[in-house]
Amino acid sequence: MHKSAMPQEGTDTFDDQIRIVLVETSHSGNIGAVARAMKNMALGSLWLVNPASFPDETSYARAAGASDVLDNARVVTSLDEAIADCVCVMGTSARGRKVPWPVMAPPDAAAKAAEHSAAGPVAVVFGRENHGLSNEELQRCNFHIHIPSNPDYSSLNLSMAVQVMCYELRMDYLRGLEGGDGSPYLKPMNAPGDAGWDVPPAPVKDVEGFFEHLEQVLVDVDFHRREKPGLLMTRLRRLFQRAKLDRTEISILRGVLTAVQKSAGTDQPGSNTSKARSAAGEQE
Ligand code: SAH
Repeated sequence: MHKSAMPQEGTDTFDDQIRIVLVETSHSGNIGAVARAMKNMALGSLWLVNPASFPDETSYARAAGASDVLDNARVVTSLDEAIADCVCVMGTSARGRKVPWPVMAPPDAAAKAAEHSAAGPVAVVFGRENHGLSNEELQRCNFHIHIPSNPDYSSLNLSMAVQVMCYELRMDYLRGLEGGDGSPYLKPMNAPGDAGWDVPPAPVKDVEGFFEHLEQVLVDVDFHRREKPGLLMTRLRRLFQRAKLDRTEISILRGVLTAVQKSAGTDQPGSNTSKARSAAGEQE
């Protein structure tokens, strides 16, 4: 049978080697929103450098079901303490600084973080809501990450910036899963034939049978004349081909056509239509 396109329970583990560090956050609601953003993307290691207020009610309210991330959060008094054991530190910034550092876009930064995390903890550091990270703090980082936002309005809400990075970290993790296990999460499920679709795609002979039946019905109800076809069937073909019909959809459509013929009194036993109806019935 088709494999579900949705993530299965229990296939993910919290990656504690990737550490999210928030420096001097002023709004505890943002800390809660960060916990939620992290847990959604299966990350669990949160370090807080001198938060203005933590733990408190607002942070837990905003964390929704991610209160475990807050329970396990480490509160420290300096950035140095939060990154002392890290093998790689990445600082996020909404704007360029005087002396430019190597800057990465989020997907590359996520790949780099995952790579380095094999050797030890990797910190992704986020700054204060009002003025970001100081130059001294950014200079403690190996790389800078810039989310390529609108240059005229570049600063994201803290938790949203964390969400973007956690999402990229998760995408990198899923892409790297062995044996293609990540593919059900990443591949699009748009049409019959794609992994996860609930009904197999209709084979060409069934689709062609449907077009034949459709044309017959349109003739029966005086909507279409075979001697003066114009582009009607071409346009209808394009419409239905675009939908990439599955077997059940073909059956339903043929059932509808048969009902139209019955009601129009054109459904003669032994006719093409009658054969089509039984074909549709067989597919149910
Ligand atoms: N006004 C501050 C930005 C604060 S936003 C400034 O000008 O620096 C709070 C934090 O969210 C930032 O310190 C950074 O960690 C993160 N952030 C916001 N927008 C970002 C962006 N476009 N790229 C990377 N990080 C961003």
